[in-house]
Amino acid sequence: MESISIKAPLSGVIYPIEQVPDPVFSQKMVGDGISIDPINNILTAPITGKIVQIHSALHAITIQHDSGLEVMMHIGLETVSLKSQGFKVLVKEPDQVSCGDALIEFDLDFVATHAKSLMTQIVLVNSEIVQELTKAEGEAIANETELMRASVEPSQSSKSSNEQSDGETTFSDTVIIPNVTGLHARPSAVLAGLAKKYDAKVELVKGEDTANAKSVVAIMGLNVQHMDKVQLKVTGPNADVAISDIFPQLEQGLGDDVSAVVTATGVVEEVEEEAPTTRKSEDPNVLLGVAASPGIAVGTAFLIKEETFNFEETAKDAHKENVRLDKAIEEAKNHIEALQTNLQRQKDDSKAAIFAAHKELLDDPEIIDIARSMTAKGKSAEYAWQSASNNYAQQLEGMKNEILAGRANDLRDVGKRVLRILTGKEIEELALPDNAILIAEELTPSFTANIDASKVKGFCTTTGGSTSHVAIIARSLDIAAVAGIEAQALEIEQGTPLILDGSKGSLRLNPSESLMEETVKQQTAISEKKAKDLSHAHDDAITTDGKQVEVVANIGGVEEAIESVKLGGEGVGLLRSEFLFLERTTAPTEDEQYQVYKNALEALDGRPLIVRTLDVGGDKPLPYLPMPAEENPFLGQRGIRIGLEKPEIFRVQARAILRASKYGKIRMMFPMIAILAEIREAKAMLEEERLKLGVDPIEVGIMVEVPSTAVMADLFAKEVDFFSVGTNDLTQYSLAMDRGHPKLASKVDGLDPAVLRLIKLATDGAHKEGKWLGVCGGIASDPQAVPVLIGMGVDELSVSVPAIPSIKAEVRDWSMSDCEQLAEQALNCDSGADVRELVENTKGA
Ligand code: PEP
Ligand code: MG
Repeated sequence: MESISIKAPLSGVIYPIEQVPDPVFSQKMVGDGISIDPINNILTAPITGKIVQIHSALHAITIQHDSGLEVMMHIGLETVSLKSQGFKVLVKEPDQVSCGDALIEFDLDFVATHAKSLMTQIVLVNSEIVQELTKAEGEAIANETELMRASVEPSQSSKSSNEQSDGETTFSDTVIIPNVTGLHARPSAVLAGLAKKYDAKVELVKGEDTANAKSVVAIMGLNVQHMDKVQLKVTGPNADVAISDIFPQLEQGLGDDVSAVVTATGVVEEVEEEAPTTRKSEDPNVLLGVAASPGIAVGTAFLIKEETFNFEETAKDAHKENVRLDKAIEEAKNHIEALQTNLQRQKDDSKAAIFAAHKELLDDPEIIDIARSMTAKGKSAEYAWQSASNNYAQQLEGMKNEILAGRANDLRDVGKRVLRILTGKEIEELALPDNAILIAEELTPSFTANIDASKVKGFCTTTGGSTSHVAIIARSLDIAAVAGIEAQALEIEQGTPLILDGSKGSLRLNPSESLMEETVKQQTAISEKKAKDLSHAHDDAITTDGKQVEVVANIGGVEEAIESVKLGGEGVGLLRSEFLFLERTTAPTEDEQYQVYKNALEALDGRPLIVRTLDVGGDKPLPYLPMPAEENPFLGQRGIRIGLEKPEIFRVQARAILRASKYGKIRMMFPMIAILAEIREAKAMLEEERLKLGVDPIEVGIMVEVPSTAVMADLFAKEVDFFSVGTNDLTQYSLAMDRGHPKLASKVDGLDPAVLRLIKLATDGAHKEGKWLGVCGGIASDPQAVPVLIGMGVDELSVSVPAIPSIKAEVRDWSMSDCEQLAEQALNCDSGADVRELVENTKGA
């Protein structure tokens, strides 16, 4: 056992690490240690050792003692975002330094005014080798005060002793790091905390480098920056579970605010002024927020006041207070359990899961410890609990991440539940009027789960976002909701007439009587139309002058095939087979694929099924299909190009489809075909596999997603049995506008006349050779596009499953002769918006 003295690297006031206003440090996720609020600006070495890591933002540095003990110093809070401004590092890796040597000089004023805090953390990152630790209190003098003394067992490895790293190695999908400041101390600590839950060996891989994901220093040493591509590598037991637990959190930024969006192409878009609470309306009678649950509510304001509790702040007997608190927490857990069982019985799994999360919060030792430390100081159980749960909730909110902010609301909810038990307060019965639109700062899940849904038409909160638990509950109750609305909403008078639009995220105040009536009328008309379309869902889609259009479904799996038949779908025009390949660590086998295609055919009961072969590419990487990073993935190895380059994948899928063909009418379709050689090569491979299997030929088609294919359709038509136009890609490639680009969204319109002209060329090319053409891109599901498409001669519309009844009804509303005339005019319009206006005017005429 070696006893190591850790000297103060800075002068200033010493704070317990638990008091640092950042849960990553206060919860010791990085390790145990101490914090100093500094008064000088030169950080010195607290021990003699080797510099093992200097963070690229120059605000954090780690020294390793001979014994293996690693001490990290993190200057200030949220200083990573200063991107090294104000810091000057005086050493380099792997310099050997002596205790007291100067390491980092920093601009005290600049850091104090630009970072959240100057509090500097001195943390033993591999605390697990520390057997005993004593800590100083009061004030520190740099290089003099012994800040901590650690007894360490040098022989002990920092690797967790129960780690089992035998067995298979599994890789996760690739994650593009969304954290604007990369994996700095905070997200590294969160990742290490997650990885440590597993006995398996968990590593983070970046290019050729690998780091132990259970070590904060190792992760930081990997120097993972924003947009870097990393993978998790797990070896040992429960590797799949570990990956499915850690991967989504890595993707979501490990608790960091990731408001910079990584688009499918890897482009970074700062989401400007679109944070939930920053939308501001110019119209004094309209307030804006975030669309949280669709639907329009017409009703009157009912403001929910913040619940208050009366209690004494202090108490004499700490033991008695702790017992009261424990009992109240236990009782709260029992209530939640009963609620959860009830919801499970009602098969309301999404709500039941919310309350399961609440129960977990009540088991959080950190909150209970904080509350106990307050009762020990003479505070009442109520006061201690309220402060502990509120402080913790505030910390979560401070992280600015929507998901964590949602957890803060949950924490306040359980906090109040326990307080009600402690104070003996009953939940107030609300005298809700009919058609109430509830307005509050926040609505807790417990509250919303208990309201009389027959009286409430909408929820409106100034906090939260579209993924908050309240939003989930609103959607499950089919109630319109807007979250993060402008704060003036709380000043609305009780009983004010309102129209809440949960799809647009807006609230209109004091609408005129006639607007309210009009809105109610529109709503009634929409629901009546929906019901009518549904009642005719199984009728054919035939125009008034007798032309039948096939309306089929776009699906991602067997469940949707079943649903499509129920809604009158006449088959499947697009099975996006990539869904079978995504979110897994190995490719689906031939048998696995065969089973899915066979099940889908059986569900379709004689109706046709078009299976599109694997359509992934540089923008949607598969972990088991390593591909070099591409400058421009949308113009790189995508769709059929991958199938041709990796024939083993193509051939396995072709065999599965051919084998399933005896169970129904299966067709095969190739994505992203751009040149004739590609279809010829694909067909040749398919034919080879068919001959080997000795089955009958199946029909083969191609997607028209690239302008070249539309232009050359008459030649392609000699090679294929059918075409299906993928307008999502065709639009982006013909207008050279990224289909996912937020700023171009209003212009990337499949009804743009340029796109329509390409569709027309493709349709004519197909018909010239007696082949048929469908449309499976997004516009097929858009009622305004229906008359234009069929007017151009499109034979089949492949639409999203819920849209089947309304698209069939739309076809029935038109005559072919009107559609043809309309299409001709549309091809000569100036823009997509003009085409839409033309359709509306023609329909209304
Ligand atoms: C399309 O591009 O329109 C299409 C249907 O394919 P996906 O949306 O799957 O790229
Ligand atoms: Mg496409």
